[in-house]
Amino acid sequence: MAKRVLVTGGAGFIGSHLCRRLLDDGHEVLCLDNFFTGRKANIDELLDQHQFELIRHDITEPILLEIDRIFNLACPASPVHYQYNPVKTVKTNVMGVINMLGLAKRVRARILQASTSEVYGDPQVHPQVESYWGHVNPIGLRSCYDEGKRVAETLMLDYHRQNGVDIRIARIFNTYGPNMLVDDGRVVSNFIVQALRGEDLTIYGDGHQTRSFCFVDDLVEALIKLMSSETFTGPVNLGNPVEFTMLELAEMVLELTAGRSKIVHRPLPADDPVQRRPDISKARKELGWEPTIQLRQGLERTIDYFREVLRS
Ligand code: NAD
Ligand code: UDP
Repeated sequence: MAKRVLVTGGAGFIGSHLCRRLLDDGHEVLCLDNFFTGRKANIDELLDQHQFELIRHDITEPILLEIDRIFNLACPASPVHYQYNPVKTVKTNVMGVINMLGLAKRVRARILQASTSEVYGDPQVHPQVESYWGHVNPIGLRSCYDEGKRVAETLMLDYHRQNGVDIRIARIFNTYGPNMLVDDGRVVSNFIVQALRGEDLTIYGDGHQTRSFCFVDDLVEALIKLMSSETFTGPVNLGNPVEFTMLELAEMVLELTAGRSKIVHRPLPADDPVQRRPDISKARKELGWEPTIQLRQGLERTIDYFREVLRS
């Protein structure tokens, strides 16, 4: 059945894909964004659809809207951006999430929180399972985001237990694809943009640290499935369980772009997790979901996107 769906952070990378998918599925979409890292260009094509509405607003301020569903994605996700104003990042994850939960409570909407693999910190359990409590530095440069997202999960559960709010928690692992910013700062967009510009590819540290990369279309499918589930609240890991080192990623990007850039090494940022890979057994069992797009295939689509962006 068609719903009125609020997507906070809807002009961002994942949010813009989610808005498009929800419209395609016949829902009415309210896209809310403060445009910190979001862009109108990401949602340009949606603006003339009568089922789509754009609201410039910051979730750290309360808002009242009549809606059935909330996807709370508002929060900068790249370390460069969330560390730019760390106090604001905490406010977004605490005051912002309280505001969205208050709204969900008031209008009896189901709310899905975009949580993150960062709740596991620099994990000592590998691959990461949902029952693992994590290994997080509470006072480091990444803490505004990691601890912010952990408190956000706490708030979700407390509103659920105390007020019966209908919650869903998605622990999203590294996701990539079109609509990332050219200067986003995350590794996939950095390597692609560097390769296309003929600049050196910057590997932080020795490049043996690992991540598992999920293409955005797969992730959006999982978010929709989680929101649609009548009984399963999560937290659930959503990501691609195939693990790569940053060196392997750099080499694949160079091969696919036919780039002739060199690989150079830069200092490793503080608290950079050494390894990360989701155990997605729970998502497979409860949502019947697993990623379908291999890294090589997803990178090709992302490279095409950035080629176009850099050309214009
Ligand atoms: P993004 O930075 O592209 O999008 C975030 C959006 O939120 C932007 O449009 C930004 O302008 C908006 N925003 C930020 N603070 C806001 C505020 N206070 N009020 C209103 N809008 C605000 O990031 P993304 O990659 O699309 O991530 C979306 C969500 O998914 C984030 O919550 C992020 O933490 C989570 N997530 C993403 C990844 C990933 O790999 N992309 C991994 C784990 C979790
Ligand atoms: N990284 C890198 N070069 C870059 C950007 C990032 O080697 O130009 C590394 C970074 O140190 C980390 C990994 O790539 O080990 C993933 O970084 P990203 O910022 O994309 O995400 P996160 O660390 O939050 O998983």
